[in-house]
Amino acid sequence: MSIFKRPKISREKLPIQLYFVLISLMGCLTFLLVHKGEFIHYSPSQWVWVYAMLGAALILNYFTFQLPPEGNLQSMDSSVYLACIFIYGAPFALSVILFNTLAIALYDRKVPFWKHFVNFSIYTLMIVGSSLIFKIAGGQTGPILNNQFGAYLAALLVYFIINVFLIGFYYYLLYRGSLYDVLKSFIKDTLLVYLSTLIMSLVLSVLIVHNAVFGLTLFIGLSIMLSYSFKQLFTMYTQLQEKAIKDQRTGLYNHSYFENLLDNEIKKAKTTESPLSLAMIDIDDFKKYNDQFGHLKGDMLLGFLGQYLKVEAEAAGVIASRFGGEEFTILMPGYDDNQARSFMNRLRKKLNDTYFEGVEIFPSGCLSFSAGVAAYRIDIHDKSQLVELADQALYYAKKQGKNNVHVYGSGAEKESEIDFAEDVRDIEQQLKLFLYKDVDTFKHSKRVFRYAMDMSEVLGLDSAEQRNFVLGALIHDIGKLEIPWAILNKKDKLTASEWETVKRHVSWGKRIAETNEKFKELVPYIELHHERFDGGGYPHGFKGSQIPKLCRMLTIIDSFDAMTTERPYQQTKTFEEGIEELLHCSGTQFDPELVELFIRYLRLKAEAQQQPAASLETS
Ligand code: GH3
Ligand code: MG
Ligand code: MG
Repeated sequence: MSIFKRPKISREKLPIQLYFVLISLMGCLTFLLVHKGEFIHYSPSQWVWVYAMLGAALILNYFTFQLPPEGNLQSMDSSVYLACIFIYGAPFALSVILFNTLAIALYDRKVPFWKHFVNFSIYTLMIVGSSLIFKIAGGQTGPILNNQFGAYLAALLVYFIINVFLIGFYYYLLYRGSLYDVLKSFIKDTLLVYLSTLIMSLVLSVLIVHNAVFGLTLFIGLSIMLSYSFKQLFTMYTQLQEKAIKDQRTGLYNHSYFENLLDNEIKKAKTTESPLSLAMIDIDDFKKYNDQFGHLKGDMLLGFLGQYLKVEAEAAGVIASRFGGEEFTILMPGYDDNQARSFMNRLRKKLNDTYFEGVEIFPSGCLSFSAGVAAYRIDIHDKSQLVELADQALYYAKKQGKNNVHVYGSGAEKESEIDFAEDVRDIEQQLKLFLYKDVDTFKHSKRVFRYAMDMSEVLGLDSAEQRNFVLGALIHDIGKLEIPWAILNKKDKLTASEWETVKRHVSWGKRIAETNEKFKELVPYIELHHERFDGGGYPHGFKGSQIPKLCRMLTIIDSFDAMTTERPYQQTKTFEEGIEELLHCSGTQFDPELVELFIRYLRLKAEAQQQPAASLETS
């Protein structure tokens, strides 16, 4: 129960130093007044008992009791001093504490002598105070008497209260806050220990009075074994705790512990306004490694990566966890997004240069990861928000070709442009199959795409709606790839069964789009662009608002382009004839409001195209 066994923090030092000086003075003075150099009169047998009790105190000081959750070491040496008070009185107990302090100071020379001295002073005050109360409560030194139980209890109580106040006040000076709270938490921590101390001191006294040295030896033996058992229990506790928070495969913190950490760090960042960054890591092409060498070898690689991240993270003062599968997180308190990016890039490059058996099979010929970094912002209240941002950044890092680090929000506009351009390229790639099968459908799709671009502006769509509408327009006829070449390119009128085949392109297209996660949202454009406003279309016969608005728009665009360009099975209409046909079918095949909008747009566009030519002619 030493004052110096708990963690130290350097704050305002002066009041603490003054406090120590005061305690030392009081302790020293009390010692001199009460002890009065008593050993001058000790008989040899009394010296034997001083040494015996000193030995017991030293042994108990060494064989401590380690208590969960923080592993505070509690020493039971106080039971020896209390036993000394009960059997021999305060001066004897003071002799023991004096020699005890000297012995410990000689053994533990790393601790400055003045600290030993403060500790000695506190013990002196506790012993003297407790012995005083013992006497006031009618206690007599010597054998343990049943009718003196009240005095024993009072002695312990005072011993305990002095300890709580002297040490509690030290913590108050150290951490400030409320003195009441400090004392309350201190009492909670130590009450049970002190009650055990009283019982042990009474047991020790009984054993000494009845069985002298043999009794003392029994007591020490029992204490050592108890201390050993406590240590075993504590080790077991820490091992179990370790298992609960660590991932066995990688040795990193597990997902649930990571969530706790993240929660705490976000709260800390919020209150202290300090930066915090989170990186999500996904190993590149890990499936390839598993496929090539099997899961066992894959697991070994994961273990290796875990160790790598652990060592690097610890060196940088950041925290690595396994998020799941081959995904990891690095939590970086105190790092802003730029610092986090640099750290992650260093980590990535070092990994590229780290060899592990079989890494040649990776596309880049080395181990690599992609990482998304998100920095804490004031509007983030929940841990899942930060994870989501880091995850989105990771997605872009992968899209940009893997083996790189992307910070969320760095060029967000560019991100969606890259995204969109890439999606268009992907769809065009598929449409290119039409170049040999049906070049008209290829050209038609591109024209419809351009109309959709214009119309998304006319309709004032937001960027997500625009993306889907425009990509939907580009991909809407993809199912035609399944229509036999002969039907697709037939110059004559189609037979009824051929028509049925052609009509199936909407469901074929739907199935093609569903194979790609990115294009699932485009399915309605593919599936519903042949529905009619009056319910007479296919494949479902949906009517009016049952058909999504932008699908109704696509039907108009699609039909107008089909009417006004050459098709194998249809006569071409002029621009004006096309408009007339739209008006003719408005309210039956087409949504009248949208027809109106589209015609207005067509006319404006035609005017705009004619005007420059007109001005050229007049000049
Ligand atoms: P990408 O670069 O796109 O990330 O490609 P990838 O191959 O790494 O693909 P993805 O991240 O989607 O797949 C992760 C793979 O990691 C799937 C699974 O086979 C493997 N994996 C996940 N957890 C474990 C594990 O505990 N042990 C082993 N051996 N493999 C795992
Ligand atoms: Mg993955
Ligand atoms: Mg991966």
